[in-house]
Amino acid sequence: MYDAIVIGAGVMGSATAYYLAKAGARTLVLEQFSRGHTFGSSHGDNRIIRLIYEKQFYTELMKHAYAEWREAEKESGKDLLFTTGSVVIGQEGHEYLHDMGVSLDAAGVESEWWDQRQLADRFPQFRIEDGVDALWQKDTGFLYASACVLTYLQLAETHGAEVRENTPITEINWQGTHPQVIAKGERFQGKKVIVTAGAWTGQILSELNLPLTVTRQQVVYYRPTDASLFQRGKFPIFLDVTWDEVLYGFPVFGREGVKIARHGMGQPVSPDTCDRTPDPDYIEHLRSFLRERIPDAAGEALFAQVCLYTETPDEDFIIDTHPDCANLVLATGFSGHGFKFASLVGRMLSEMALEGTTGFDISPFQLARFEQ
Ligand SMILES: Cc1cc2nc3c(=O)[nH]c(=O)nc-3n(C[C@H](O)[C@H](O)[C@H](O)COP(=O)(O)OP(=O)(O)OC[C@H]3O[C@@H](n4cnc5c(N)ncnc54)[C@H](O)[C@@H]3O)c2cc1C
Repeated sequence: MYDAIVIGAGVMGSATAYYLAKAGARTLVLEQFSRGHTFGSSHGDNRIIRLIYEKQFYTELMKHAYAEWREAEKESGKDLLFTTGSVVIGQEGHEYLHDMGVSLDAAGVESEWWDQRQLADRFPQFRIEDGVDALWQKDTGFLYASACVLTYLQLAETHGAEVRENTPITEINWQGTHPQVIAKGERFQGKKVIVTAGAWTGQILSELNLPLTVTRQQVVYYRPTDASLFQRGKFPIFLDVTWDEVLYGFPVFGREGVKIARHGMGQPVSPDTCDRTPDPDYIEHLRSFLRERIPDAAGEALFAQVCLYTETPDEDFIIDTHPDCANLVLATGFSGHGFKFASLVGRMLSEMALEGTTGFDISPFQLARFEQ
């Protein structure tokens, strides 16, 4: 019997397996595809990591998550987290920026408000009009996403975890003393089972009727006029809300071009039948934004990719124990902003599985909130 069986080797499951195995637990990871696949939510070159949040509890958790990412870098010898600083751009007094500023102040995190001139002095790549502000925060950066997943899996294996790829689980029998997982006709027993199955979690735990919506998201890379303007150190992470949507982008990393995307507003899909071909209209929409805001990045689209969000109604995560089975822990609904927390979520889930509880505050993530 395994001490813990982890279902799904996206960033959450991989990180969880690492903490479990490091704590000495006999750990099995079951992944339906091969490691590093591109059908879920954790693939690609980078994900934003930031302390900036409208809700202060996320900022507080992020302080721990940053430390855990650095620990993974130290143990693996790999560079995973790159600090670039960020600007959040929006109309003066915009609620999104205002709430972020308030939350950062309350959490004791340094930030600066810049006007049009100050932003132009620091990052002349942006064109902003009068009446638009920028909130600067120096600790923002990005995680080398696909490397994070592979690194956590490798570390987990180094600590003794067994990782089975191309092994879709079809059933969890949790009614007995110890949960049983069935995959490819084989039966695996674990003292604890941790479900980190991303967009597939609703299907796997169908008895819970989880309030999850899986949506299709797209990222696009555009050719800049001069790539040197968009290198790390020269260009920050940005989020922009001036177009009544959240648009964000990165310095050049991993492949040619400046990566831009829209946060959310994707169409609901099934993870099994989702169309993986990016939409020409979307690519053109982002390019028209670039022409206005960052004209030097508005060249031809070089590459585009589809990815999935698993959204909850309040966009807060679900991290909890199954209401009818204390031996089954689940973490899902990361709503397009969970990657940066994976280093901490892995630790939380491992503690919940091995000790029955975690010292971190997961009260905002309880399933019971949807019952009211
Ligand atoms: C375009 C895009 C941009 C994003 N940007 C950011 C960002 O900037 N910052 C940030 O913090 N977050 C961001 N996110 C969100 C973040 O990437 C996700 O929250 C995170 O990757 C979710 O990880 P996961 O492990 O829960 O899911 P997944 O990565 O989908 O992993 C779930 C795994 O479970 C496996 N699985 C499912 N069913 C089964 C089964 N039956 N048997 C075995 N295995 C199974 C799947 O194959 C998959 O590998 C973004 C997401 C997208 C799509």
